Amino acid sequence: MDLSLAQALLDFIGKSPSPFHVVENLAQRLQEEGYTELFEHQPWNLEMGGCYYLRRNGSSLLSFRIPQTAPTGFLLSAAHSDSPSFKLKASAERAGTHYVQLETEGYGGMLMASWFDRPLTLAGRVLIRENGAIREKLVYLDRDLLVIPNVAIHMNREANSGMNYRANVDTLPLYGGPEAKGTLMGLVAEAAGCPESDILSCDLTLACRQKGAIVGAQQEYLLSPKLDDLECVFGCAQGFLAASDSSAIPVLCVFDNEEVGSGSRQGAGSSFLRDCLRRISLSLGMTEEQHQMLLAGSFLVSADNAHAQHPNHPEYADAANCPYMNEGVVVKFAASLSYTTDALSAAVFKAVCERSGVPVQVFANRSDLRGGSTLGHIADAFVPVPTVDIGLAQLAMHSAVETAGTKDIAYLAKAMEAFYASGLHRGEDGSFVL
Ligand code: ZN
Repeated sequence: MDLSLAQALLDFIGKSPSPFHVVENLAQRLQEEGYTELFEHQPWNLEMGGCYYLRRNGSSLLSFRIPQTAPTGFLLSAAHSDSPSFKLKASAERAGTHYVQLETEGYGGMLMASWFDRPLTLAGRVLIRENGAIREKLVYLDRDLLVIPNVAIHMNREANSGMNYRANVDTLPLYGGPEAKGTLMGLVAEAAGCPESDILSCDLTLACRQKGAIVGAQQEYLLSPKLDDLECVFGCAQGFLAASDSSAIPVLCVFDNEEVGSGSRQGAGSSFLRDCLRRISLSLGMTEEQHQMLLAGSFLVSADNAHAQHPNHPEYADAANCPYMNEGVVVKFAASLSYTTDALSAAVFKAVCERSGVPVQVFANRSDLRGGSTLGHIADAFVPVPTVDIGLAQLAMHSAVETAGTKDIAYLAKAMEAFYASGLHRGEDGSFVL
């Protein structure tokens, strides 16, 4: 089996311990590929055939290419850069006589038990004073630094009968002994390469130190932190970069804050994408009507991982509508529209996958389980274009270490390449043509 793309995915995740690192790594790759960075506070002068990207808050990114001819629409994909974790509080050290713990609060809905008894560290960004300016620096404390210790079974005989974890009591990481008091920001400053006194503030979250691994009798599975949703970020980026030009404007969207509802200034529920698409049209000299026509010819693939049927608990899945790892890209449906897919968007995406030889599976929640939500219907409120919700099948979603199929990343990359290269647009009668 060719494991090169799966290994490349694990490498990408390994160097992306926070959403800020995800975006920085993508930006570096785009820069290497000849893309020009745009800034929201500066004018844009886009050229036909040009390749561009921009960031908001350093944790969300949009990238696009302008075709050589008059564009027919935007072909968009969206995935998220964040994952559930624990965020460090502003005043972080809780020092007792014998231990120094760190004050954290939950970010997103994680499986708390998975964060115990494993090496952890901190990653994110700091804002520092530098020559009169306030500058951002990414930091990763690249060492096994912290642990959240379990309570021994001898002290809590009920530990295997379901735990009620309290974030202010049970999940505080242990940082050190009494001598560690007052040293945390020194370590952060060292990682940022600046004096401690220059640090004004920081956004730091716990990062799991486990390296991605390939497991299974036939190397079937990937075991790694953050597969939700960096597997889709990576797969969409691969497809976006590999796709040949078409009449459409291909757009890669990576949004932060999906795990806390997408409502931030840089989330899928913000104006970021809408503002960017409008500025593209304005910069190309289009009228408002032409911009609306462009939107009407557009299509969004919202990519966020899906639940594979669990080997120990098949009863949680709808037997006829559950995907399996290594069996292709998953199209997700929900009558509540928490997944945006409808018959039209499913049909378009299926046609794209058929053309590229990528197998398609379907997912719907068991009808008495609520399930999750994702980017599609949130982004749709700001950029109302036909949207399909897709993902790759995985187990243990929101665990510190998740499991997915080794083959699936290649399926996603191939499907997204075919989507971006498809030239999908509206024909004279309004039907999608590809
Ligand atoms: Zn997700």
